[in-house]
Amino acid sequence: MTKMQFQAESKRLLEMMINSIYTQREIFLRELISNASDAIDKMYYKALADDGLVFNKEDYFIKVTADKESRTLTITDTGIGMTKEDLENNLGIIAKSGSLAFKKENEAKDGHNIIGQFGVGFYSAFMVADEVTVTSRALGSDEAFVWESTGADGYTIETGEKATVGTDIILKIKQNTEDDNYDEYLEEYRLRSIIKKYSDFIRYPIKMDVKGSRPKEGSENEFEEYQEEQTVNSMVPIWRRNKNELTAEDYENFYFEKRYGFDKPLKHIHVSADGAVVYNAILFIPENTPFDYYTKEYEKGLELYSNGVLIMDKCADLLPDYFSFVKGMVDSEDLSLNISRELLQHDRQLKLIAKNIKNKIKSQLQSLLKEEREKYESFYKSFGRQLKFGVYNDYGMNKDDLQDLLLFYSSKEKKQVTLDEYVSRMPEDQKYIYYATGPSIERIEKLPQTELVSDKGYEILYFTDDIDEFAIKIIAKYKDKEFKSVSSGDLGIEADAKDEKNEAEENDSKELFAYMQSLLTDKVKQVKASKRLKSHPVCLSAEGEVTIEMEKVLQAMPS
Ligand code: ADP
Ligand code: MG
Repeated sequence: MTKMQFQAESKRLLEMMINSIYTQREIFLRELISNASDAIDKMYYKALADDGLVFNKEDYFIKVTADKESRTLTITDTGIGMTKEDLENNLGIIAKSGSLAFKKENEAKDGHNIIGQFGVGFYSAFMVADEVTVTSRALGSDEAFVWESTGADGYTIETGEKATVGTDIILKIKQNTEDDNYDEYLEEYRLRSIIKKYSDFIRYPIKMDVKGSRPKEGSENEFEEYQEEQTVNSMVPIWRRNKNELTAEDYENFYFEKRYGFDKPLKHIHVSADGAVVYNAILFIPENTPFDYYTKEYEKGLELYSNGVLIMDKCADLLPDYFSFVKGMVDSEDLSLNISRELLQHDRQLKLIAKNIKNKIKSQLQSLLKEEREKYESFYKSFGRQLKFGVYNDYGMNKDDLQDLLLFYSSKEKKQVTLDEYVSRMPEDQKYIYYATGPSIERIEKLPQTELVSDKGYEILYFTDDIDEFAIKIIAKYKDKEFKSVSSGDLGIEADAKDEKNEAEENDSKELFAYMQSLLTDKVKQVKASKRLKSHPVCLSAEGEVTIEMEKVLQAMPS
């Protein structure tokens, strides 16, 4: 049997691919700059292996030039360049990656930083250009070649001229249509912002000619136009710098630059993990609740970088819901990306990173609580509710992670306390952790049900948030102590030998209680004498799991 080769309509394939794999047009620039960076990296690796070759970092750069008149956008690099064969193989065969091959050949020498691997990124240029010209001169060659294509009809290669080793990619930007604006890819500010967004941490300078006007020398009201070359990217990502060299201000600046928030962050966390999965992360705990935080519009997530190139704006999988307030970024070389480099293929590494990050946040919050109580309380005011929801959600799966981060107002301390602090103060004869529920501290203070417990000298936690009691029911027990509502039927407090008197009272009032009950048949189950009241004539108490306050919340919920 002869084996037949698949035939593909490459024209259509190219179109389909370009238009289906990328969700955002602007990433063409990320792809071309990544290729340029790879080409320079290859020079660097070659120099490592070849003593005759010196790699002077200053000689290497990427330049982006827009020309509105000719509608061209040019990406120039001083990298390794391409021979005629390279042009045919790497730009003529879709899904062939010269960079992947290079990485494999140079595995031993840490080919890690090379970004390319799928062999499709280059063609994303056709999302914004109807013609692409590549002029390249390879290292060790004095000939240059020009590759040209309009995307649909294949390509041509001719000899050309180029004075130095490297590559120019020239895009003829499409004309605007009714629905699509392409002019923006010729605007300096737009190009700058795309470079900043995706390629800020490319390790070689990305330069642009910047036009401006400035006061003429020796004159105050005359201005002159000028043009100067500027480096647009910051190059050294703060997260790859040594923690010891960085100040709190450096982190704050990064927070503002990245627009993670408008106010100062409460705390930063810098992680450089070198274990089962290698990654760097810079995380921030904000101080104030973002205005949309407790709404459906709020989107959690961290920025995700692969090798310094932005892959995702908001990777939600990196944060559990209960830490959704955390801002920041993660950079890892270990991610398996899908072909558009916008998504992750399978998420084993991501899951590991997420778990790791969760534990880091938890321990940082714990140390904040221990060492900077005031700061923690201010954090808790903003996000404590989210932690309590975290305890309640997912069937209490995360309660162990969160219960030590909770704070409740204490009747005794007259301030917020942790469960641990409460339990450590419990007198020996106290069986339960007592709590009282109400709309505010002042209102709870007036509850008749608190009297007996307080008189015993026991501390009561005040639950003023709807979620509090639900969260506590999930925790159920803390350090072997069960929680008990002061309004529950059995308080577990031994009555002070007043039993006889009580029984007598009960008997005396039998008729009255029966009468009261007959009036309240649909409202209460039973009317009886209470041992817990002192200054109040009457109170409500509940039996079973659902307390009166919980019932109120449940009834208020939309069904
Ligand atoms: P990838 O970067 O994933 O390999 P691309 O489609 O972006 O795929 O690029 C295909 C190949 O073309 C690269 O692997 C590289 O070999 C080559 N190439 C692209 N741009 C350049 C460049 N500026 N300089 C040198 N080689 C390049
Ligand atoms: Mg590429």
